[in-house]
Amino acid sequence: MLAAVFKGRGKVTLDERDRPVPAADEVLVRVRAASICGTDTKIIRGGHFRVGPDETRVLGHELAGDIVEVGAHVRGWQVGQRVSVVPNIGCGRCDMCRRGLNNMCPDYDAFGINIDGGFQQYMVVTAAALAGGNLFEMPAAMSYEEASLVEPLSCCFNAWKDLTVTPEDRVLILGTGPIAGMFLQLARAYGARQVIVVGRRAERLAEIAPLGATDTVDSSRADVVDEVMRLTGGRGVDVALTCAPAPGLQQQAMAVLARYGRLNYFSGLTKGTTVEIDTNKVHYWGLKLLGSTGSSIQDYARALRLVESGKVRVSDVVTHRFGMADAVAAFDHALSGKGMKTIIFPQEERL
Ligand SMILES: [Zn+2]
Ligand SMILES: [Zn+2]
Repeated sequence: MLAAVFKGRGKVTLDERDRPVPAADEVLVRVRAASICGTDTKIIRGGHFRVGPDETRVLGHELAGDIVEVGAHVRGWQVGQRVSVVPNIGCGRCDMCRRGLNNMCPDYDAFGINIDGGFQQYMVVTAAALAGGNLFEMPAAMSYEEASLVEPLSCCFNAWKDLTVTPEDRVLILGTGPIAGMFLQLARAYGARQVIVVGRRAERLAEIAPLGATDTVDSSRADVVDEVMRLTGGRGVDVALTCAPAPGLQQQAMAVLARYGRLNYFSGLTKGTTVEIDTNKVHYWGLKLLGSTGSSIQDYARALRLVESGKVRVSDVVTHRFGMADAVAAFDHALSGKGMKTIIFPQEERL
């Protein structure tokens, strides 16, 4: 089989490998769609604390496929079932895991991070993943592409659920990547009265706005704070999400937050970066400053239903599709920062 293998900073090659053989307590999945995430490109650029400098790894944690082999001791799964995967597997023993927060487990394993993931034609689903509830059967009408995108949506949903968005709320989304696109769709699905998206490139704003924005702000032309205040009649926004790793966006979000505003720092910053916060504003205005990372099994289950019901159309953030023969080109494309979401279809040679 073919696998796109990460071999240290900046290096991914398409290799012929033996098809993995599942153990008696494992399942083998034929990967049908695997989408490239900002985390994958970050790993390719700079490595990851869970991937050793001399290790090789098949990346890819946003994937769907069908079961082709079931180990003799596995119960409840059959060959032919269409499935998708929650990548983060909790240890099952810590305080976070016991609360159902597998994404917050300090001792997690994850597909595409320290277990071979989706950018290969066949992938083993480990016993721990099966026991942890990390394998989901896909709804019948869902495409593999959509199912592969439930994972990033579930991370958005994890952030979204604590922002308690109502139809009275004005929402600000800073960034124009696929995550920003999914937040635009969530804002629309939850009926926010106004949804403003901020980006620094006009063509990206034009691409993303139809997903759910009522207003756009081009930060290369306008002062973001002034423009958001103008667009909201001087009131500011109730909810803000920072979806790009720029400290300036966090400061802008804070500056335009209205009374009782909620902010989620969705995108992390380069390690060691700090941003000043006016804590008096937090105190007197009753602000909620939140963070989130990854998604729990429950977040994933809920995101799956948002896609199944058509409330969020995840395929609308996909701009580029590649077959397995062009997997390396797909990563080059994603690394170039062009377009929104790039998907690899490991069973197709070329698209
Ligand atoms: Zn991801
Ligand atoms: Zn744990």
